[in-house]
Amino acid sequence: MDAPLDRSATWPYGDGEPGRFSYARADHPTGVACEEALGGLDGGHALLYPSGMAAVTTVVLTMLRPGGTVALAEGAYYGHRTLLDHLAPWGVNVVEFDQTGRPPAEADLILVEAPANPLLTMPDLEAVAAHAAPVVCDATVASPLRLRPLDHGCDVALHSATKILAGHDDALAGVTVTRAEELRDRLHLTRRLAGIVASADTAWLVHRGLETLETRLDRQEATARILAERLAAHPAVETVRYPGFSFLLSFDVADGATAGRLERGVETIINATSLGGTRSKLEARHRWEGDRIPPGLLRLSVGLENVEALWADLEHALVDA
Ligand code: PLP
Repeated sequence: MDAPLDRSATWPYGDGEPGRFSYARADHPTGVACEEALGGLDGGHALLYPSGMAAVTTVVLTMLRPGGTVALAEGAYYGHRTLLDHLAPWGVNVVEFDQTGRPPAEADLILVEAPANPLLTMPDLEAVAAHAAPVVCDATVASPLRLRPLDHGCDVALHSATKILAGHDDALAGVTVTRAEELRDRLHLTRRLAGIVASADTAWLVHRGLETLETRLDRQEATARILAERLAAHPAVETVRYPGFSFLLSFDVADGATAGRLERGVETIINATSLGGTRSKLEARHRWEGDRIPPGLLRLSVGLENVEALWADLEHALVDA
């Protein structure tokens, strides 16, 4: 990779004046190199953060005023809801809506997810773009290779780069991408003042992940399609949710106890949280999300393993569950 890893926190002034890089809380060269690559993928100006949730926090602090209402996609990543609830004392209101339809009129900021984790619905991007409020689209699961939200009128494309972008479960990072330079500058100001900055090591790992993103996604997606079809035909599986692209699916078995046995029964697939990494992961989501999702829902993030090995593992665990 061309971009060197520069861990400096400070750089010498040239002739008594700060240069492009002076203090890493503002910008650092490893971060900027990664941001240029990310901006190219999504078609805008990218900013990197130390996690996906740090990106969401920066967006809310920058784009919402106290007393404002966030319209949040139902069934979106549960961390969005819990963060927004946590910010209630700062005057953040939340209303959930069905993102396959129109957002509520009272929204001051709209947060949709393409596709939603773990219910895998897709937002009606035309309907959200028609609303007067700014739109943030979390496209973590689609990745910029399958959806570029800015091309559909969204104001901010957001990613947990921890997932398919970095891709190896060894970096925690988040990204915003905006077309409007003025919005990028406002987000950058919040990031710099609050110090919500990804380290050079993190930026380097995300950048390295981008080199193999297309190859990983193509293969993980091809495997996910096959597993979604086979799961849908399995008698122990009640529902399969798969939007037809990318690496993530979810499926329901009879109840929570069956889901628990199934997640403990897999061997090739890791029973762990998170998604988008090279290793497949299966998790019963009820333990985190409670009654917002069916008790028998399992989320499967498909990795790079051989499709037959993954199917054999699932089939075996389904029989035993
Ligand atoms: N958005 C989605 C769709 C996610 O799945 C997650 C985490 O699972 C996040 C955002 C939060 O990202 P992070 O864990 O990097 O803070």
